[in-house]
Amino acid sequence: MHYTSTRNNTIRVTAARAIAQGISKEGGLFVPSELPKLTEGDFVALQGMSYPERATAVLSRFLNDFTTTEVQKCTTAAYGAQFDAAAVAPLNAIDGEHNVLELWHGPTCAFKDMALQILPHLMRVSTGKTAPGEETVILVATSGDTGKAALEGFKDAAGTRILVFYPADGVSEMQRLQMITQEGGNVGVCAIRGNFDDAQTGVKTLFTDPAMQSMLREGGMRFSSANSINWGRLVPQIVYYISAYCDMLAQGKVAMGEPINVVVPTGNFGNILAAYYAREMGTPIAKLICASNRNRVLTDFFESGTYNTARPFYTTTSPSMDILVSSNLERLLYHLAGEDSAQIAEMMASLRDNKQYTVPAPVKEQMDALFAAGCASDDEVAATIKTVYDKTGYLLDTHTAVAFHVYDAYRAASGDATPTVIASTANPYKFTSAILEALGKDADGDPFSLQAALHDATGEPVPAPLANLGDKVVRFTDVCDGDTDTMRQTVCGMLNLG
Ligand SMILES: *Cc1c(COP(=O)(O)O)cnc(C)c1O
Repeated sequence: MHYTSTRNNTIRVTAARAIAQGISKEGGLFVPSELPKLTEGDFVALQGMSYPERATAVLSRFLNDFTTTEVQKCTTAAYGAQFDAAAVAPLNAIDGEHNVLELWHGPTCAFKDMALQILPHLMRVSTGKTAPGEETVILVATSGDTGKAALEGFKDAAGTRILVFYPADGVSEMQRLQMITQEGGNVGVCAIRGNFDDAQTGVKTLFTDPAMQSMLREGGMRFSSANSINWGRLVPQIVYYISAYCDMLAQGKVAMGEPINVVVPTGNFGNILAAYYAREMGTPIAKLICASNRNRVLTDFFESGTYNTARPFYTTTSPSMDILVSSNLERLLYHLAGEDSAQIAEMMASLRDNKQYTVPAPVKEQMDALFAAGCASDDEVAATIKTVYDKTGYLLDTHTAVAFHVYDAYRAASGDATPTVIASTANPYKFTSAILEALGKDADGDPFSLQAALHDATGEPVPAPLANLGDKVVRFTDVCDGDTDTMRQTVCGMLNLG
């Protein structure tokens, strides 16, 4: 097995190269040339393992140029005491129908921790194999959750620095507090005057900026990405779908080989793509159900076969899914199109030039067989949070509520009673104001009074990393303009270059 690019399948690189480099030179994404297969015997063995052991077993098959000891060191360092659940990704059967896969027990209370706690370790081993001695500089543009999870993952990681840019007026107060109080000797955070697209464009430009590149080289440094286009961020996510199937077996929800459905609240298509990979490896998954918010570009795509970003962008109560270009869809299309990279390059060029592309009929047929899709408005999200809480006492965050709504609608319309796992992507305390409003409570106040109000209303424990924020020292107050020159100067200043 090797890794190739979705836009040029003559490229062959190792797993370590794919992770260290992040994205292929011509702009394609790295994908495995074949998928390892799991047998019933593997599922029996996996059931008896802890989460880090399951992760070692699965990741070893993809990272074939890592030794088992190297993989083991990564998984034990990543999935330890920084998670507040012993199972790391527990499967919580809240009622007969909804099996909730809780992916938010990590240090930043969102599912990004599942990948970003391990990525720095995978990156260190990968760089050691491909560019020993070089320092890796992780540059991130964030609209909230990714920035904090990346900072927390990479803080004080040997041989790395991490710099995060966020839009000054584009993140929640809680998200801002999480970032400006970040600890660690190798971290930098800067707000930019502008929106998320400005931050993203600036970061993308710096990645390929010749002046920046040569200054980095002189300093013995190299950029890499912690975005979900990096294979090292995607592959750890496959583990929890396999782990969830083991837990469904253990809880007697399915017999060996009996299929489940999986529902995923989707933005950049990374999380649901990981479920697709788990399925292709042999995890008995029937339908992958793709749940979107009001930005329903994926719902329309699965209905019509046309991906069209020429539409308004809406801000919603599930901000981590407010996205129009779902980068990881490119990997799915590559596999469904028979690994025809020329066809993918054409579709992506069409997206860039015409804001849309249409998949060929054979691809659409496979999409219909594998996927269902649906979307939820903010009102439907609020109603779902209230109904589920009143009925079961279980408190959903806004993103997970999108998935619940879409699943219930799918089940009602299709009559499909296959046992189902719903991916839950954030702790409700990350989105207190929308949740208080959904419960019919007063939602005015600073982040800490809202925390207290939600606690009073529900008795749910406030997760320690969010409760403690008020006591942390503010370290990063810089704000810069969002143009490339200013951002280059800021990066050089943070890295003591030039
Ligand atoms: C990032 C994120 C998502 C979307 O995941 P993708 O892999 O981008 O599809 C959903 N919910 C939350 C809370 C997130 O942080």
